[in-house]
Amino acid sequence: MSEDKSTPEIAALPKDKQPFWSQAKRALHFRCPNCGEGKLYQRYLRQVDECSVCATPLGKIRADDGPAWLTILLVGHLTVPLLLEVERNATWPMWMPMVIWPLYALALSLIILPFAKALFITILWRKQ
Ligand SMILES: [Zn+2]
Repeated sequence: MSEDKSTPEIAALPKDKQPFWSQAKRALHFRCPNCGEGKLYQRYLRQVDECSVCATPLGKIRADDGPAWLTILLVGHLTVPLLLEVERNATWPMWMPMVIWPLYALALSLIILPFAKALFITILWRKQ
């Protein structure tokens, strides 16, 4: 059962009448953007074919390069200013930033990517 008491009432509305951010919030919790109950992903980035609760067909939605674009945009803006600030005063050996910063960017990308995909799935599902 959802913790949000308004979710069943909102979910009963047609998808284009529901508030976008309510749907996006459900998807960002990796739940079906329609009902907020069923899972959005069956694995890391593999979405379910359809919601197990409301049968919304989520597997046919192809986000393509959108989530990668958003992830690169966010990771770049989160990494470069931090990198410049840290490297300005750093006294560590040259090999350390060459190892640390790519690992930092990779980890941040892997964390942000499922959230970016959930957001794109919500947008594309609303436009169907
Ligand atoms: Zn659902």
